[in-house]
Amino acid sequence: MDAQELKQYLADAPPSVVRLEIEKHFEALSEKQKRYAHFISRASFYGSRIVARQISPESEPIFDFILALHKSSGGDWKALQAKAGISDEELGYFLQYAAQFLGNNGNYKSFGDAKFIPRGPESAFSALAATSPEAQKFYDATSGAIFSTDKPSLLHLGYPEQGHMTTYYPGSPDITKVEIDAVSAWMEKKGLLPENTRLVQKKDGSFEIWIASAITTIPVEGGDVGKETVFKIEDGILAGKTITLVYGDHSKELAGATASIKKAVENSDNENQRNMHSAYAKSFEKGSLLAFKASQRFWIRDIGPMVECNVGFIETYRDPAGIRAEWEGFAAVVNLERTRAFGALVEAAPTLIPHLPWEKDFEKDKFLSPDFTSLEVLTFAGSGIPVGINIPNYDDIRQTEGFKNVSLGNVMSAKAPDEKIPFIAEKDLEVYKRYRDGAFEVQVGLHELTGHGCGKLLQETSEGKFNFDKENPPISPLTGKPITTWYKPGQTWGSVFGSWAGSYEECRAELVAMYLSCEFPVLKIFGFGDGSIDIDGEAGDVLYASYLSMARAGLTSLEMWDPKSKKWGQAHSQARFSILKCFLEAGDDFCKLDYKGDDLADLKISLDRSKILTAGRKAVGDYLQKLHIFKSTADVETGTKFYADMTNVDPEYWGKKVRDEVLRNKQPRKVFVQANTYLDEATGKVTLKHYDATPEGMIQSWAERDV
Ligand code: ZN
Repeated sequence: MDAQELKQYLADAPPSVVRLEIEKHFEALSEKQKRYAHFISRASFYGSRIVARQISPESEPIFDFILALHKSSGGDWKALQAKAGISDEELGYFLQYAAQFLGNNGNYKSFGDAKFIPRGPESAFSALAATSPEAQKFYDATSGAIFSTDKPSLLHLGYPEQGHMTTYYPGSPDITKVEIDAVSAWMEKKGLLPENTRLVQKKDGSFEIWIASAITTIPVEGGDVGKETVFKIEDGILAGKTITLVYGDHSKELAGATASIKKAVENSDNENQRNMHSAYAKSFEKGSLLAFKASQRFWIRDIGPMVECNVGFIETYRDPAGIRAEWEGFAAVVNLERTRAFGALVEAAPTLIPHLPWEKDFEKDKFLSPDFTSLEVLTFAGSGIPVGINIPNYDDIRQTEGFKNVSLGNVMSAKAPDEKIPFIAEKDLEVYKRYRDGAFEVQVGLHELTGHGCGKLLQETSEGKFNFDKENPPISPLTGKPITTWYKPGQTWGSVFGSWAGSYEECRAELVAMYLSCEFPVLKIFGFGDGSIDIDGEAGDVLYASYLSMARAGLTSLEMWDPKSKKWGQAHSQARFSILKCFLEAGDDFCKLDYKGDDLADLKISLDRSKILTAGRKAVGDYLQKLHIFKSTADVETGTKFYADMTNVDPEYWGKKVRDEVLRNKQPRKVFVQANTYLDEATGKVTLKHYDATPEGMIQSWAERDV
């Protein structure tokens, strides 16, 4: 690999280390709730080693190597530097790598699944290792994998067959995708769920399914598929081969998680919480995913808790086969202020929705708000922290019992102290910085509650039965004529719009938010202005920041467009890009991109604040009206053609020139320093300890977490 190719794999210098602020919200909890949160945090963090183990064989020893150096130096990195005889720069590169490693819980990026390697020389790392026998032991155990790049395919997670990195199939370099799929099919037939498993192919061709559990033998009462552990595969390409169930994968960590979660049972606020944590305990102790599914059912019923959580093997993105899940656990505190604002927004929805650019024929008779809570994260154990979560992933539970949709406020609003803000003009920076969080809050509330919540699908609900007047069909505002298409019996939004549905719906929700944020009573709900139209006042500042943010998000979204395949990799990014285009095409000089030279250097967004309520809102309304009516009437042909056109990236201008400038200004992804909680056994009081937003603070937080 040449130096140019290698560059993209180098660790961020410096990484964007930010603190996950939680103190204010945590302090608002009762002592019992604090203990409850504490034990869930501990249970979650016990799985951190599982996460490392799920990423690469070297991740766990690297983790131990970093912690051993912290321990031997007592956190005095300058002293350690002197002892190792390395330069300031070399120590800096080590600390930066360590921060990015801990922030990703392993040496592959949680966003993008690519390996990252230190910028400094290998000699600096080995000099650091030589300062303590323990550090040396762990460094040796990494077998040079911190730096190795000789096999390029190993720099990405994926199937072993394609030479990629995965640890979901340990010690099975020759296992094929076909074999993995065949075992999956067998498991499905058997009713054995895969999320907490790993699959091993033995030398003799037989298989072992490792089940994550604290206990190391099958539970005496039997596992999820009974008391047997050895099975012969009867049909398919693996006919005649045996599969053995092996309990006790990640046993030590799950024993810790089980013990902690049992303490959460004791500090629960209600019966659902008690049942939920008892089910978690059973799942972690005995490796039962049926128990885990039970926990998720209780979780859905635990409505509006002060402390929200979820713990277990949850998301399946990183298993190349997409069925085995990474450990994830979080404890979060409800943001009461924001929850009140969201509640007021839901109450106001029936008066807001009639403002949208369609007649009531295209709207539900009664507004039903989707479940949505805004949380502040205390603890998030896993490879990366998302800004929102929508679980459980089990379709049978989602469809019949529901799901929860949460947004993680302090993750979204976290900022590095020296954060750069490209593309916002100097004159707008102050207002943008002051109001972007407020604007984002309004945007999120409107998007989730009114955006996804509004609209009616016109349907033939069953043969000959319609949820609209078939004889006098609604008049389309787009054509002025009666509508001619609708959903047929059995058809759903997803089944008709297929792979377009996700991004299209995100775009519709974003546009609803942009449109309704022009209503000043909405801004008042969030604490800005008195509800009267005042584009020059504080509410106007928030509205302006909101439009600027959307335009900026549209620009930076180009990172997510792949010039090779000419495709969008991310639904929201695709949507935001099209909204920027909509702004630019609004006319009346509403929005344009300013730049100096031909290479678009110093690219800035120019948006005329005085025209948001006129040209801006009109353009947004027109775009929204089209998306909405096509969706409502199942007009997939016109709808997808239109959306494809709006999200189309002209390869020369957008795909090359603008995208290059976006990439030039790309900021490193944030890594979060999280607080630790401590329980005083004598008094039952829990205290919170925060750390500096620096690589050293990040390492210290992990060292004191002691997992
Ligand atoms: Zn959405």
